Amino acid sequence: MPTFDSILRIVALALDQLEVAVCVFDNRGRTVLWNETFLQFFPEHAGHVYAGEDYRENLRRFYLQRLPQDELPSMERYIEEGVQRHHSQQRAFEFDHHGYRVRVASLSFGAFGRVRLWRKTTPLLTGMQDRINPKLTPLPGRILPDTAMALESLADGILMVDEKDGTLWANHSFLRLYGLSDIKDLGARRFDEIYAAAWQHEEPTAGYTTGLSVLKERQRFSGAPYVLALPRNRWVRIVELRGTQANGTSFFSHVDITTQWRQQEELKQLSLHLESLAVKDALTGLLNRRRFDEVLEAEWRRAHHSEMVLSLLMLDVDHFKHLNDTHGHPFGDEVLKRFATVLAGRIQRTDSLVARYGGEEFAVLLPGTALADAAQLAELIRQQVETMSLGNEQTGLVRITISIGVACASDLAFNASSSMLVDMADRALYEAKRKGRNQVACS
Ligand code: GH3
Ligand code: MG
Ligand code: MG
Repeated sequence: MPTFDSILRIVALALDQLEVAVCVFDNRGRTVLWNETFLQFFPEHAGHVYAGEDYRENLRRFYLQRLPQDELPSMERYIEEGVQRHHSQQRAFEFDHHGYRVRVASLSFGAFGRVRLWRKTTPLLTGMQDRINPKLTPLPGRILPDTAMALESLADGILMVDEKDGTLWANHSFLRLYGLSDIKDLGARRFDEIYAAAWQHEEPTAGYTTGLSVLKERQRFSGAPYVLALPRNRWVRIVELRGTQANGTSFFSHVDITTQWRQQEELKQLSLHLESLAVKDALTGLLNRRRFDEVLEAEWRRAHHSEMVLSLLMLDVDHFKHLNDTHGHPFGDEVLKRFATVLAGRIQRTDSLVARYGGEEFAVLLPGTALADAAQLAELIRQQVETMSLGNEQTGLVRITISIGVACASDLAFNASSSMLVDMADRALYEAKRKGRNQVACS
């Protein structure tokens, strides 16, 4: 049986492979063990930390290299607060350390002690820590340190430009949006150049092409908000605030709207899907009865005006009720799906239409096809269905047959309504059933 200690050691090694730092403390706050990643995240402990060391010493090293000179007198207080946090921490939190944002979780082992885990989330931009206090970094003359500090605290990207649209300054959120790692990378470029540069190493998409033309348009219709595509399917909405500053500068705000944009795209897809549901039969994917009626009406009128013929096949599975009763309704569904596939495969002409008319009854509309040709097609379908092998392990081999009624409207009949064609085909179908099924009958 492995000891508790050896299990902890193996877990610590495994966490190294995930680049998660770990440090375990006993219930009196003494260091028990740590892994390699811990020393990488916190190089200040390498060569100093030892088994049995008080957590206070750990914190002392952390603060010694982190606190500015003028805060050192408060260090002991920070350490005591840190110890309190160590014993009471429930939730994970984040802090910046050595150029990274780090997320730390701490869990109690009850009587044994506590384990702390750290994971790097995002790298910080160079100089970001300084930029949190803009008083330390040189600013262009036209922005006040207090303004810069306020703008730095916003989650939205802010770009400041001069009268000629040359960039003067940007906040950290802006730099991050456009993949810039340092304020110096702005140069004195114009925004459209920065936008193009963000795409430099990316496969251009349709969104990027649109983005470029939006930026050209914008120069003519300045002021209105616009949306630009960013690499990796991200989106940003830009609002320009011009003419508000006495010194001639303007501010652009850049808001990451990726989430809303994706939601909108999903809604669009969903409504397309709903539209298709409205015209399609859910089981077979063929057009439904409603759509069939609409198309029939339109084709009927078109045939009338252009003096063309219009044929209709009505197809019905023979003894389908018996098949359902014998093998179950779900198997009946499978049969209907297979039959629909055969039918759709047969009817290839784009002006023709295959629909599920209802239950086990299907309709095929054939504009420009005469009765004899329609009957021939019907016979081919009948034969194909007759030779179709269906079934599974439970049912064994199953065969089905169908009966088909064929009708054709020529110019004489067009004075009546389109439903007359359906009546004619229906009567022919009834005739085929009456004569013994598995056959084609013409009206
Ligand atoms: P006939 O040869 O005269 O056409 O006999 P039939 O049994 O095929 O005709 P009937 O109209 O008496 O029965 C049709 C059956 O089709 C009854 C109904 O339960 C079944 N049916 C209708 N729609 C579906 C469906 O979507 N799935 C399944 N599995 N069965 C269906
Ligand atoms: Mg039937
Ligand atoms: Mg029927």
